[in-house]
Formats: sequence, C-alpha cells, structure tokens
Amino acid sequence: MVTMESLIEEIKEYNPTTDESLIRRAYAIAEEAHDGQRRDSGEEYIHHPLSVAHILAGLQLDDYSIAAGLLHDVVEDTKISLDDLRKEFPEELVSLVDGVTKLGRVEYRSRQEQQMENLRKLFLAMGQDIRIIMIKLADRLHNMRTLSYHHSQLRQKEIAQETVDIYAPLAHRLGIYKIKSELEDLSLKYLEPDKYFRLVEQISMKLQERQAYIDEICKILGDKLKDVGIKAELKGRPKNFYSIYNKMMRQKKELNEIFDLTAVRIIVDNINDCYGALGVVHTLWKPIPGRFKDYIAMPKQNMYQSIHTTVIGPSGEPFEVQIRTWEMHRIAEYGIAAHWRYKEGSQATDAAFDEKLVWLRQMLDWQQELRDAQEFMNSIKVDLFTESVYVFSPKGDVFELPAGANCIDFAYRVHTQVGHNCIGAKVNKRIVTLDYELKNGDIVEILTTKGKGPSLDWLKIVKTSQAKNKIRQWFKREQRDDHLIAGKEILEKECKKYNLDAAEILKTDKLLELAKKFNYFSIEDFYVSVGSGALSAATALSKLGEDKKEKEAPAPEVKPWMPKGNSSNGVWVKGQDNLLVRMAHCCNPLPGDEIAGYITRGRGVTVHRKDCINIQRYKKEEAERLIEVTWDSSFEGVYQVEMEVLAMERPRLILDVMRVVTDTKTIINGVNSFPHKENKTFSVILKLEIKSLDHLDYIMSKVRKIKDVLEVKRVTSKEKNKE
Ligand code: MN
Repeated sequence: MVTMESLIEEIKEYNPTTDESLIRRAYAIAEEAHDGQRRDSGEEYIHHPLSVAHILAGLQLDDYSIAAGLLHDVVEDTKISLDDLRKEFPEELVSLVDGVTKLGRVEYRSRQEQQMENLRKLFLAMGQDIRIIMIKLADRLHNMRTLSYHHSQLRQKEIAQETVDIYAPLAHRLGIYKIKSELEDLSLKYLEPDKYFRLVEQISMKLQERQAYIDEICKILGDKLKDVGIKAELKGRPKNFYSIYNKMMRQKKELNEIFDLTAVRIIVDNINDCYGALGVVHTLWKPIPGRFKDYIAMPKQNMYQSIHTTVIGPSGEPFEVQIRTWEMHRIAEYGIAAHWRYKEGSQATDAAFDEKLVWLRQMLDWQQELRDAQEFMNSIKVDLFTESVYVFSPKGDVFELPAGANCIDFAYRVHTQVGHNCIGAKVNKRIVTLDYELKNGDIVEILTTKGKGPSLDWLKIVKTSQAKNKIRQWFKREQRDDHLIAGKEILEKECKKYNLDAAEILKTDKLLELAKKFNYFSIEDFYVSVGSGALSAATALSKLGEDKKEKEAPAPEVKPWMPKGNSSNGVWVKGQDNLLVRMAHCCNPLPGDEIAGYITRGRGVTVHRKDCINIQRYKKEEAERLIEVTWDSSFEGVYQVEMEVLAMERPRLILDVMRVVTDTKTIINGVNSFPHKENKTFSVILKLEIKSLDHLDYIMSKVRKIKDVLEVKRVTSKEKNKE
C-alpha cells in the first residue's frame, strides 16, 4: 500500500533536494478534492492518484511530474478548476495537469474514428510536453493493475485491447520498457485469460529448472570475463509473458518449443567492454547465425542501445545474451523518462537528447502536416506498430525504417530531393526494382536524375508516412508548376495573336511591371494565375496598352506643399481644411502609400493609392477633380485594409489564418473565402484594421509562414465605378 510518506521517501532516494512541500501541497489539495469519492474497488479515490505518483517516482521523474500525477484527476472529477490550481502552483505544473485533463479519459469505442482522434490527441500532447504522456501512461498502468474491480468483462476486454493497441506501443516507442511490458502482460490477462494463466503456470513450473541453467551460464561467463579483466554484472532476465505469447502465436509453437525464454544480460562500464564481452560469449558458445544485432552501432529510434546475440548454451539449448553499459541500461529501462529524471542543477531541455529521438521528432512533424484524423492514423499505424529494419547508405550511415519499407521509402528518408529524383536503386550493388522490400543490413544506393519527379503509383507502394507526405506535397506543388508553364505558353500565344513582340513583352522587368498592375508580387504568380485560368490572357495583356496611354497622360502635379490647418482622418488635403476625407474602398490606402485625392460630388475627398486603377481612370476622364493629399504622420488611427491569402485547400486553414492575425492583436472586421476549383486552392479575404504599412507587412510575413499558404497580398485595386 502506497502512502504519502512512502512516496516522499522514494523520491528522496533519487532526488535528495526534492521540493517536499510542493508534493505535500499537491497531495493535500487532491486528498481534499477527492474526499468522499471511492473507486469501484471500494478504496478511497486518493489511492489512485497516489499510486500514479508512485509509478512516476519509479521512473525517477521530476517534482512537477509527480505533483501533476497527484492532481491529474482533480480538474475533471472535482470542483477544483485550473484557475484554482494556478493560485497555488507554477504555470508549468498546472499546464501538465491541463494537458492530462484535455486527454480526458480516453474511451475506447468501437468507432475507429474515435480511437484515431484519441491517438491524435496523445500526439498533440506529446508535442506540448512529453511528461503529459508519461503521466497518462502511469494513469493507464494503475487503471490496468486495478482493472479487475471495474466494469463488465466486455468493458475490461475493450480497455485491455486499447492498452495493447495504443498505450503499450507508445511506451515502447518512448523506450519505457518498464511500463510497456507490464501493460502488455496485464492486457493479455484480460484479453486471453485462459492462455495467460496457463502460460504463467507453465513458466513458473519450469522456473527452477531454468534458474539452474541460467546460474550455470552466469558462472561460466562470470569466470571468463574476470579472466580477461572485464568488470561486469550478470543477470538472468525472464521475458515478459506477452512477448512469449506473441512468439508462440507467430511461430505457431508450444511453450516447450520456444527456447530462449530467458535471456542473460551483461552490464559493463563502457562500450569497449561491450564488444570485449561479446567476444567472450562467442568464444564460449557458438552463435546462431542471423540472431546477432548490434544496436550500439545502430541505436533504435527510441534510443535503445545494446548488443543482442543468441548462442547455443552448454546443454545445447539456445539462449539470448544482451550486452550493454550502465548508461544504456538506464535508457533501456526508462527511455524518454530518463531525460526527465531529476538532474541536479539542470532541468533544461537538452537539444542533443531531442536529436536522438528521431522517431518522435518525425511524428510531431507529421502530425502537424496531417490534419485529417483518418489520414493521420493510417500514416502512423505503420510507423508506430511495426518492427524496424536497419539498412545502410553506401557511406555506411544507418537508417531505421519500418519493416516492409522499400527503396523509395529509403530515398525519402535520406532526403526529400533524393526521393523526388529517384529513378532506380541498387541493393548490395545489384540493381533492384524500386519496390524491393529492404532487409536488415542491406546497403542501399539510390540512383537519381535531376529534375525527375515522383510517380503517382509510388503512393501505393511506399510504406512510410514520410514518403507518402512528401510525394503528395510534390504533386500539390507540381500542379502549380504546371499552371506556371501553361501560363507562359498562353501569354506567348496571346502575344502572337495581337502581333505583339512576345520576347520584348515577356522580358522580366516589363512583365513584372505588368504583374504588379494586377497586384501580383512575382512573375511566377502572374503566370500561375493565367495558367490556372484565374486571369484571362486577354485581360492580362490589355494593361499593356494602358501603360502607353498612362505615359502620355500628364502625371498629377507633385509640388511640395506645406499642409496647414487640421488634417482629417489622418490626411491633409492641399489648400483645404476640415474637409470630409474618406479612404477609398477600392485600394484601401495606408500611411506610407503614395496617395492622391479625388473630389467627389458632394461626399468630400476620397483618398486613393496613386497606382489605383480608378485614379488612372480619373486622370484620363476627370483630371480636374484630382487633388493633392498627404499623410498626417501625427495622426493615430486605423485603416481598413483587405488582405488576400491564397492557399492550398485544407480543413482549418481559415482558422489558422485568423489565429495568426489575431495573435498580432489586429482586429478582423470580415472574412470571406472562395475556392478556385481548378487547382484545389482557395482565397481568403480578410478585412483588417491596420495602423501602418509596417503593421500590415508584419501581419503578412506571419501569415506567409502558415503551412499551405501560397501567397499573401494586399487587395489594392478593385474596379469600382462608385468611387
Ligand atoms: Mn486517473
């Protein structure tokens, strides 16, 4: 029975400077909050969070994790709110409780969708703070330990199934073997009770016999290691029931047909001794070919390192040997938790450590890319739930890929561009087909050609989500590239039609000028727009003529003048005081823009950007109504501006844009969007309250960084006759 005192004692063992009062305060609040609540087993509820905290202490985690473990159910189950906790505890701790609460009681439902969403939530939490997942795993472990008291048999099976489906693989991927194997064994007990209990019985029957065998091996090995001067600790290690059960199922064997039920573990001080010990093992006993794995030279993605080998033992029975250093042992037991263990002096995140968790980083990247729950689930299933193969590049770099992965997966793992340009592959110096399934130890060389793109069929072949995403992305972008090429061709043809000199017109500077007239920032965007049909070639070229006329028309006189009197709406009007001034809605000028005024019939002066198409028209038709205006820099106000965001179609994009804009403390007065069906993009138009050009530039630069956003521009010219 765990008590508060035994918990504190356990923490102190690995963390002598623990903030005992923090833990006690967390406990006091949890105890009071859960007062009167009982679990189905009849015991007081507080026993559950206390046990969860105890499991976390077993992983030697920091004080905040343990305190959050004590508090993990209060927000969901009691009257205590997050704000109440904020009054008592630092934000870092409260956000751990919040994270666990948000995961909720992940309910296993038959609906696959629900399960996917749960898994997604777990990954999101992981990105936030990995400790949330560790608390959740501890919560699940204690719930599994006490499962027999709860729920119907059917429900127990469902919970156990979810545990092997999601939580155990998660613990495995995070390298927390301690929790992983217990979760698996407990699940097996509920999923296959008959088989489980038979297995336990059979194994314990053989235990004595087995132990004698192990003792014999350890004696021989220990003596020999001492002879060669390697300091080592030897341990017999029973494998967990679930892995034995799995092996029996997979190989369709009975227990007595499975030999390496036990492994011997050698723990030494340094890597040299690992290989030294391996040499000793292999001189003593004959290794079984194909069973040697060097995870020291090629660590698993969850950072696991050890040497594994299976040898024929003294009595002719094979047994497995694992060799590792103490540091490797620590990481093997605690996995990612090893990182969060109490460390004297520093609690900071350690970049080198994050680097090692390749798998986790990739997962987090992908979950950001895949918004759709179904797609996300499908893509990570392979990566999360399958075993790995290790292959080499010709230079000897090691790559871990999910079993079943092929050359294309490998190419994309090496580099996105290598994937796109891949035309063939050599495995162990022989040409293979691209769908060749990689095997452990293969040396893979990818043959590439510049400018070559992936093929759509690859989507059906590749196994990893990384490759799939990259291929999809390429095709999305490719569409844009196609439009670009088409746009250029269309414009050239159109030039010929009007006997225009295409070479002259399509010169970069000329074209850029033209593009700007349509508010495109780049020639590429202009081409794409023509190529996709958003802008007709005739319209595009029509502005060429105007260009000439414009040069002929006299520019509005620009003589320096000193404003006097009062400005109106932040704008001085030459020679006029207190005139009603409005900003034109066609071009929404901003301080910093060059502007011109237009004297309306009875509605004062409208201020336009000088390059607004309406101003160009007035110059020709009613130049007498144009009037000089200038910005009043002392005026502090806001201006309505429209911003257009062109983006690839995807759910939540509008929300993302709005969130980013809102984060800049900018007021949004309207949002509109319309799809461009032809190329799966769409435009979002936002009406914003903007203070200055700088302010707008800042927002636009933020929005451009949003994923899938192709283009952000200010809407500066709409043909309107009203103004
Ligand atoms: Mn709980």
